[in-house]
Amino acid sequence: MAQLTPMMQQYMETKKQYSDCILFYRLGDFYEMFFEDAVTASRELEITLTGKDCGQEERAPMCGIPYHAVDGYLNKLVSKGYKVAIGEQVEDPKTAKGLVKREVVRIVTPGTNLNIQALDATRNNYLMCVVYLEDRFGISTADVTTGDYFVTEVDSERKLMDEIHKFAPTELVCNDAFFVSGVDIEDLKFRMGITIYPLEPWFFDDEMCRRTLMEHFKVKDLAGLGLAEYDCGMIGAGALLKYLYETQKTSLSHLTSINPYSTGKFMIIDSSTRRNLELSETMREKQKKGSLLWVLDKTKTAMGARMLRTFIEQPLIEKTDISARLDAIEELNGNVISREEIREYLNPVYDLERLVSRISYQSANPRDMIAFRNSLEMLPHIKFILKSFKSGLLKEIHDELDTLDDIYDLILNAIVDEPPITVKEGGIIREGCNEDIDKYRHAKTEGKVWLAELEEKEKEKTGIKNLKIKYNKVFGYYLEVTNSYKGQVPDYFTRKQTLANAERYITPELKELEDIILGAEDKLFALEYDLFSQIRNRVSHEVIRIQAAAKAIAKTDVFASLALVAERNGYVRPKINSRGVIDIRNGRHPVVEKMISNDMFIANDTFLDNSSNRISIITGPNMAGKSTYMRQTALIVLMAQIGSFVPAESADIGICDRIFTRVGASDDLASGQSTFMVEMTEVANILRNATKNSLLILDEIGRGTSTFDGLSIAWAVVEHISNPKLLGAKTLFATHYHELTELEGKLNSVNNYCIAVKEQGDDIVFLRKIVKGGADKSYGIQVAKLAGVPESVIVRAKELVEELSDADITLKAKDIIVKTGLRTDGQKNRIADIVDLEQISLFDTVKDDDIILELRDLDIGNMTPMDALNTVYRLQNKI
Ligand code: ADP
Repeated sequence: MAQLTPMMQQYMETKKQYSDCILFYRLGDFYEMFFEDAVTASRELEITLTGKDCGQEERAPMCGIPYHAVDGYLNKLVSKGYKVAIGEQVEDPKTAKGLVKREVVRIVTPGTNLNIQALDATRNNYLMCVVYLEDRFGISTADVTTGDYFVTEVDSERKLMDEIHKFAPTELVCNDAFFVSGVDIEDLKFRMGITIYPLEPWFFDDEMCRRTLMEHFKVKDLAGLGLAEYDCGMIGAGALLKYLYETQKTSLSHLTSINPYSTGKFMIIDSSTRRNLELSETMREKQKKGSLLWVLDKTKTAMGARMLRTFIEQPLIEKTDISARLDAIEELNGNVISREEIREYLNPVYDLERLVSRISYQSANPRDMIAFRNSLEMLPHIKFILKSFKSGLLKEIHDELDTLDDIYDLILNAIVDEPPITVKEGGIIREGCNEDIDKYRHAKTEGKVWLAELEEKEKEKTGIKNLKIKYNKVFGYYLEVTNSYKGQVPDYFTRKQTLANAERYITPELKELEDIILGAEDKLFALEYDLFSQIRNRVSHEVIRIQAAAKAIAKTDVFASLALVAERNGYVRPKINSRGVIDIRNGRHPVVEKMISNDMFIANDTFLDNSSNRISIITGPNMAGKSTYMRQTALIVLMAQIGSFVPAESADIGICDRIFTRVGASDDLASGQSTFMVEMTEVANILRNATKNSLLILDEIGRGTSTFDGLSIAWAVVEHISNPKLLGAKTLFATHYHELTELEGKLNSVNNYCIAVKEQGDDIVFLRKIVKGGADKSYGIQVAKLAGVPESVIVRAKELVEELSDADITLKAKDIIVKTGLRTDGQKNRIADIVDLEQISLFDTVKDDDIILELRDLDIGNMTPMDALNTVYRLQNKI
């Protein structure tokens, strides 16, 4: 260390304190990085790696970026999961004695990036803190760009995962115990792309967390913040706040409130259901287009877009809350002119939440302030229109909507309409706002006149016709004389610079003028900056009011958007009931109906209740529309509970506490578990966590194993769900196992439905209509043909089908084996319970003991359907 240059010593000292960050070290107009940081940054940012003499034998690896382009580079590193510490010069190099003092002024991490350009305006950028303590997880989540700050706690890893999926944070900080809590860290990192940092143990000190929260919110007791019941959550919230202080190094005055919530207040949607139902992004492309959010989002402001996303991510479960939202939408649609007027006024409203955060951070520039002012200008208009509405929520919004007139006036009177982006070069403050500013500005303009007069005077005196007074940043003002007039230059001109074809001079008089003009300018710029900062500061003191107004605007925007979508798409207001009945007439899939051409979508009914219509078994060929139908039901229920109108002719929705889906498994391959294992884990989760008020969507359960096992599992699952003593949840169950349709007669809560198809010669036509009853055929070959499987394969498949159906009796035998459980005990006398007489007679004719013995020894669980058929065929031939 001793041999390092003083600057490098200073660097090393700072770097030691921020060893987990890439340190951007300000040297003049550049941020420089050294050693390891330089190697990493040059690779990630694709910038040249050079070296710097640092006093040691070898040059230190170094790379740099110009300060004015820092944002782009910073975002690139942060979005790749790096933490970046910004080391600034904290004293003026001109006045500093010796080495300029430098300090880290902020640490930028994925969850604390304030750069609005780099962030998606329609979604929050959440930072989450999870603390795992004695089987409980404290969870706190904040968005520093908007000031949202939440806290809760849960008692299982699964519920934690539900919260993580709900917020989808970009960064998660945690205690060490989190890593051994059973959470799949790799999945969070690689599949969800979350950057995870463990924090040192002191962050989670109970007392320190308590104090941090009390000091921040200036309260004497945490109960006042609603945190009394959240011991573990409180630690999460305290640690998160401390982490923000450490990284942001500001007072975080825009985190004005903390919102404790209980996870039981919302419908529970687990992570796979969120994905399967494609609520805010599609499963494959991970994009908004094609998701429910895409259909519902016609919001005009970024705040509204973010709030709508939150609505979709957490549907309600209280009838009164849901009805209040529906009332608001209904009323807005009863007055379309006002609704559209509101939307017009929302158009120019900028992201008030993110703007006010920038104002709090003192990073808002003059143009931001004008965008802010222009947005505020709309508020009184919106409030005025809202005044005529009667429904509870709209009235509440009207009352909450502070039009912030004082703040609007403050900015209006102080800042010019079209200011520059920069804060230090003047041109910001309005004429007449401050006497000194006007005076200096006047001197500056007067100065221009004085200069013109001086130029004229010197021209006359010297006879140099093209004499000009000019200005540049290095020399200030000077007189320029071209070479042809050089001889006429008088003595009192002092030469400053020689060019190829001209000379530049200064005179005492010009110098004097320069001092006045430039002095005035310096003072003017400094004063304008000062005044601008004061205004910004005054606005930042009103952050609570501004955030409240922003939320009111967001709500207005969301309801206006939901209302518009309802009107445009022909949605109806759902009735909400607590009887557990789901009665949808002519329901449609909100997304699929948008994706296919005009009016081609076939509407279908759904009826489920808590007694004889608890489970619908849905059969029908592939591509018939089974999963579309099931998802449509889930989405309509979910939309109703968001408080939205729904795509149907009518809908009466019994509130569901949870929706579970088990659909397809292909995207789980990434997690490294076998498809069947994933499927069964999800089934286990559903059976364990669903209640009789849940809605289950089960698609092809048991497909990932041998037919007999699969069918048996599916059968047992339906039995379990249908039994109100065990579960009794409303369920849509799509299956290829036609055998399951027999359950209709056996369990009185089960009903069969199928999606109709019409045969046309060799082909089939999908009718997309759900009808009562089970499908009689699978039409696999026809679907294969539609999919373009080569004709030769189709022909051969048909031959095989013929052969197999000739051996029809063998199929019946297969049925019996499945239904009797022969493979385990082989006892004939159990057959009579289940199979019909015709089938029993088949077995009664078997006389040969060898056949019985052989049957008994079969390892059916490990046979393929084809093996089973062949074996039965062989046995039959022995009779
Ligand atoms: P399955 O689950 O039975 O294999 P899907 O639900 O995936 O079938 O439906 C296949 C395709 O059929 C969908 O992508 C959609 O384009 C179309 N489809 C499904 N249901 C309907 C409907 N009710 N009206 C019009 N088209 C539909």
